[in-house]
Amino acid sequence: MKINIAQLRQAIGARQSFNFSTQAGHIAGEGNELWLRGPVEITGEAVNNGSLIAVSGLIKGTAAMNCNRCLTDFTREVAIPFGENFRDQSTAVADPDALSYHGDEIDLAEIVREALIVAEPLKALCSEDCRGLCPICGINRNDATCACETVSIDPRLAALAKLLPKK
Ligand SMILES: [Zn+2]
Ligand SMILES: [Zn+2]
Repeated sequence: MKINIAQLRQAIGARQSFNFSTQAGHIAGEGNELWLRGPVEITGEAVNNGSLIAVSGLIKGTAAMNCNRCLTDFTREVAIPFGENFRDQSTAVADPDALSYHGDEIDLAEIVREALIVAEPLKALCSEDCRGLCPICGINRNDATCACETVSIDPRLAALAKLLPKK
């Protein structure tokens, strides 16, 4: 996943687009796993800003997720943006906000992996109106209905109910 920037370095303001097709397993590296599965498409552009090469793009792939509400595994198409600045390692100026490159190549592997790790959603829902699991029998309410009590009691009201004299 390397961009050759030999041409790009010649002129300030020059732009160069890139396009890579790879596999999620390849990005993750040996023995690691990412939340994407199968083919991944990476497109973007590198721009010569004079002192920096600005790289930005989009990672498109299929996410393997688990619904937070009904616990079902599902997949979803995702597009994750990324962007980094690169500075020539041979220049004397150190810039803590920029990554460095040397020679005529910028390797995107690391920044793509980082972008995916940062973008991993902590909570996922199979659908916005997922009905979740029945708290009593555990049935998936998206697939079936059960005969359990469907009235949900506000916990504050439940506490009050306990104070009432029992019949
Ligand atoms: Zn769900
Ligand atoms: Zn139930």
